[in-house]
Amino acid sequence: MNIDSSKILVPHMTAWSEEEVPAVSIRFKAGRLAYSEERAEDRDEHGILWARSVTAQGSGRPTFGRVHTERQREAVARMLCQVCALPVAPSEGQYLWLTDLSDVTGLGRFEEGWVTSSYPPICRPCLDTSIARCPALRKGFAILTVARAEPYGVRGIEFRKSWRRPVPATPSVHHYAYGDPALPRVLATQQVSMLHGAALTDWNHKS
Ligand SMILES: [Zn+2]
Repeated sequence: MNIDSSKILVPHMTAWSEEEVPAVSIRFKAGRLAYSEERAEDRDEHGILWARSVTAQGSGRPTFGRVHTERQREAVARMLCQVCALPVAPSEGQYLWLTDLSDVTGLGRFEEGWVTSSYPPICRPCLDTSIARCPALRKGFAILTVARAEPYGVRGIEFRKSWRRPVPATPSVHHYAYGDPALPRVLATQQVSMLHGAALTDWNHKS
């Protein structure tokens, strides 16, 4: 669903204020991070613990810059446009990707032109509209052409034990590849793809 009020554009994967997730207690159990009351759907097929989602799209205010975990995972898995949620088709073998500038800092260092990204693809009409009207892009953005995307891992935060409760082990979120030894201690918030044949076509940086 693309919620498009008269002036602003709200991407499908943007979380809304009524989608706030109640605080959930986490702990370490047999060396891995766990919910105190865990449900089967809290882990994916890799055994990775996922942040929970509350779904109330369109309720309250859009919270730009905050991503709805469940919609993001679905869009990445099914190659849906990050804004309108329709399936994205490649044009002349190339997909379009609208990402954070931080996602592309490594581009050019790799001969084969790959980067990891937590963004789903974007369709051409939504790309044009987003650049004009999405408040989240005021912080800067990068536009890539991409030949192929494949599952890479998760974006999340690693926790460590402390005397009262698990605390973040790093000051910021990271992309963790499947098989990373840190994953049992990670709370995942977004799916991450590896983008092959990625080339930077345009970017904009605003401080
Ligand atoms: Zn779209």
